[in-house]
Amino acid sequence: MAQEDIFKKIVSHCKEYGFVFPSSDIYDGLGAVYDYGQNGVELKNNIKQYWWQSMVLLHDNIVGIDSAIFMHPTVWKASGHVDAFNDPLIDNRDSKKRYRADVLIEDHIAKLEEKIEKEVAKGRKRFKDAFDEQQFLATNSRVAEIKDKINAVHSRFAKAMAESDFEELRQIILDEEIVCPISGTRNWTEVRQFNLMFKTEVGSTADGATSIYLRPETAQGIFVNYLNVQKTGRMKLPFGIAQIGKAFRNEIVARQFIFRMREFEQMEMQFFVKPGTEMQFFDFWKQTRMAWHQALGFGSENYRFHDHEKLAHYANAATDIEFHLPFGYKEIEGIHSRTDFDLSQHAKFSGKKIEYFDPEENKSYTPYVIETSIGVDRMFLSVICHSYEEEKLDSGETRTVLHLPAALAPIKLAVLPLVKKDGLPEKAREILQQLKFHFNCKYDEKDTIGKRYRRMDAIGTPYCITIDHDTLKDNTVTLRDRDTMEQHRVDINQLIDIIEDKVSLTTLLKKL
Ligand code: ATP
Repeated sequence: MAQEDIFKKIVSHCKEYGFVFPSSDIYDGLGAVYDYGQNGVELKNNIKQYWWQSMVLLHDNIVGIDSAIFMHPTVWKASGHVDAFNDPLIDNRDSKKRYRADVLIEDHIAKLEEKIEKEVAKGRKRFKDAFDEQQFLATNSRVAEIKDKINAVHSRFAKAMAESDFEELRQIILDEEIVCPISGTRNWTEVRQFNLMFKTEVGSTADGATSIYLRPETAQGIFVNYLNVQKTGRMKLPFGIAQIGKAFRNEIVARQFIFRMREFEQMEMQFFVKPGTEMQFFDFWKQTRMAWHQALGFGSENYRFHDHEKLAHYANAATDIEFHLPFGYKEIEGIHSRTDFDLSQHAKFSGKKIEYFDPEENKSYTPYVIETSIGVDRMFLSVICHSYEEEKLDSGETRTVLHLPAALAPIKLAVLPLVKKDGLPEKAREILQQLKFHFNCKYDEKDTIGKRYRRMDAIGTPYCITIDHDTLKDNTVTLRDRDTMEQHRVDINQLIDIIEDKVSLTTLLKKL
C-alpha cells in the first residue's frame, strides 16, 4: 500500500478510535486545530509523563515550571519574535492556494532524494545479492547527476534563507519548475514575509487595551523565570528548567494532520551552563535525547540527526532529531545551543541584571543555554504511525493493531467476562476492583470475545484477561498478549506482578 494511503488510514483510525478529532467537528472543523479524544488524551499524557519524568525525576539538577501563556509584550520584542518570527509565503494565482516558499523548495529537494532511493531500489533488483549500496551510491552516474542537482539547489536555497532574499527564493521555485500541487501551474506571486504570532488584546476598553501575543514557544517563559528559579531553588550551574505547555503559531500551510498545527504543545528544557562548556553539553543532550526516543523500541534506523547548516545568528550549534514518518524523515525535536542570547536580550530590555554568581570563579556572568524542544503532537504522531499495522493473520483475516509501547498505551489491561451470565461479569468486576488502583483497566462485556480482542488491538491495549467458568473454580484467568496473540492461564493473584512490570513507566525509564 502506498505510504500516502497508509497515512490516510492512520488519520481515520485516530478518529474512529477516539484518539484525535478535528476541532469543532460538528461545524466541519477548524484548519490545523485538533482535539484529543478519550484514548488520545491518555496516550498524550503518557508521552508527557515519559518526558517529564526523564527530565525532572532522573536529573537532580533539572526542575520544572508551568508559566502562563500570556506574557508581557516586550518579551517577544526581546526574543526577536516580533521582528523575525516570519515565514516566506507565496501564492499560486490559479489555485489561490498559499504555500511556504521554503517548504516548496524543501519538498522539491525531498523528491530528488526519493529519486536516488528509487535508483537504489532498481540497482538492488538488478544486482540481487551482489548489490553493494555504498558502492552504487558512489559510482552510479544517474545518482551522481541527481546529487549534483540537489547540492546546487540546496546551496542556493541555504544562501537565500540566510540572507532573507525573497526574490531569489522565488527564482529557485521558477528555475526548478516547481508547480502548485493543486493547479499544476507555475503562476506564482511574489514571496512575502508573514509573522506567525497570534495577536490579541487584554483590557476591557479599546483605549486602555494592550496588544499581547499567544506564545509561539514555551521557552521564553523559562528564560524570564531564570532568576526566580535559580534564586529560590538555590540552583548551581549547570542546571535545567523544564516545561510542558501550549504554543500557538499561525502556520500558513496547515497540513499533514497533527504534524503542523496552529495550537500545539511543546516540551522544552533549557539547560544553563558556564560559557565555554556549551559544546560538551550540546553533545550530551544530543545523545541523551536520542536515547530517550530509541528506548521506545521503534528501531534506530528510523531516526537521524539533521544538523543545521544555517544557524540563527545567536546559535552556535543546532540539530534536529528526525523520525521516519509515512511522508518522509521529519523533525520531531530540535536541540539548540543558543549562547547567552535570550538571557542577555531580556537583561537589556528589562533593565534587570540576569547573571549567575560563580562561587568557584568568584565572578558573575551570563550563562549559556542548551535547549531541547520537542512537540508533543509530533511525538504522538510518530508513536501512532510506527505502531499502526494491518496484520495479515494465518486465518486469512486482517486485524488492525497498534503496537504501542506498553508504557504509553492508553489502556493497559482489558477485563473481559467470556459471557454475560453465570456470575462471570460479577467475578470480572471483582478483579477489576483490585487492579484499577495499579493501572488503567477497561471492562467490556459487549459482543463476542473475538470482537472485543480486536477492539483492544485497535487501541493498542497490551493485555486482555478473560474470565471464564474455570475462573470460578480455580481462580485463574486467560492472559492474552496483544502482539503475539498468545494466551496462557495465570493465577489472579499473580496478575499485578506480571503486568505491572511490563506496562509501567518505571520499566521504560530504567532503559535510559
Ligand atoms: P518546522 O521547521 O517544522 O516549522 P520549527 O523548526 O519551527 O519546526 P521549533 O521552533 O524548533 O520548530 O519548535 C520545536 C518543536 O516544536 C518542533 O521540533 C516540533 O516538534 C514542534 N512544533 C513546532 N511547530 C509546530 C506546529 N506547528 N505543530 C506541531 N508541532 C510543532
